[in-house]
Amino acid sequence: MELLKVKGIPIRIHWSFILILGYVAYVNYKAGSQFNEIVWAIIYVLTLFLCVTLHELGHALAALRYGVKTKSITLYPIGGVAALERIPEKPGQELVVALAGPLVNVIIGGILWLWVFFSPIEYRLEDIGIRINAHNLVLNLAAVNIILVIFNLLPAFPMDGGRVLRSLLALAMDRVKATQIAMYVGQAMAILFVFWGFQSNPFLILIGVFIFFGAAQEYQMVKSSGFLKKKLVADALMTRFTTLSLANTLEEVKNLILQGHEKEFIVIDLFGQPVGIMTRDILIQHLASGSKELTVAECYLKSSIHFSPDTDLDEAFKIMQSEGIPIVPVIENEQMIGVINTENILECIMLGEAMHKK
Ligand SMILES: [Zn+2]
Repeated sequence: MELLKVKGIPIRIHWSFILILGYVAYVNYKAGSQFNEIVWAIIYVLTLFLCVTLHELGHALAALRYGVKTKSITLYPIGGVAALERIPEKPGQELVVALAGPLVNVIIGGILWLWVFFSPIEYRLEDIGIRINAHNLVLNLAAVNIILVIFNLLPAFPMDGGRVLRSLLALAMDRVKATQIAMYVGQAMAILFVFWGFQSNPFLILIGVFIFFGAAQEYQMVKSSGFLKKKLVADALMTRFTTLSLANTLEEVKNLILQGHEKEFIVIDLFGQPVGIMTRDILIQHLASGSKELTVAECYLKSSIHFSPDTDLDEAFKIMQSEGIPIVPVIENEQMIGVINTENILECIMLGEAMHKK
């Protein structure tokens, strides 16, 4: 669900966010809170997530300085995620982007603490962490911003502190190696979070699991990308491939898929020029609605993306993933000389890694 747009970045709220509101209401109800106390607890969670959103905007705006756009900011029960188009690879830039989020909480916290100490209202520090009411809300928000800063700066890659660690390591060593070390530290932290969560807050267990697998996934990506950087599109080029014309029927596409091992095809126009792609997934969608007589022209995915053989394979793979295009024509001197597809690139990575191990 989209709430609003800031600088063109959609800020969304995940459906499961309702879980945390329910959880807070339930815990307070069990503890014998009155209705108005439950309302205050929920107001507290909402303002806390406002701080989290501003934190994510901090990352997004810092990334924008380096020309990296943010696709969206999504709020989950365990926190916010700013989906950057890419992570800046220069360690200095990653460091700034990673620190920009916690810096926002330092600023919010700083302002709130100034208010706590200098406003005419008398706040008592003992009121931190007790039931929220109109009187102690600001004090508790001031405190929670400190916690947000500390928690985010723990070296639990891929959380902010882990990114700080990775970027600092990457100043001194290869980025793949730096990511591997950050991943191990992050996973060790994740296991601690899970144990800690069992004793206190179940959301910590979720955070731990998220970090554990997130770290491994990101390491895998960095490793693959490190491998692909040394390769060109020509290295993964497939020259034996079947093309479809706009006039082919879905029945024909189905038979092609069943008889061969290709799952994605380049669609060409009457002049033999590639105009888009047809995939097994698109076929299934249309067959499910019972329309075998349709032609490729009516359901193919239009795409003008193409590569030349000397495009960096790493660049090409990133474009294919971000555009969700599994097969792309490779063109040289205005002639289609072959295709590359996701499956083949992944195979290259796998074989490359296997050879690297020896
Ligand atoms: Zn952050």
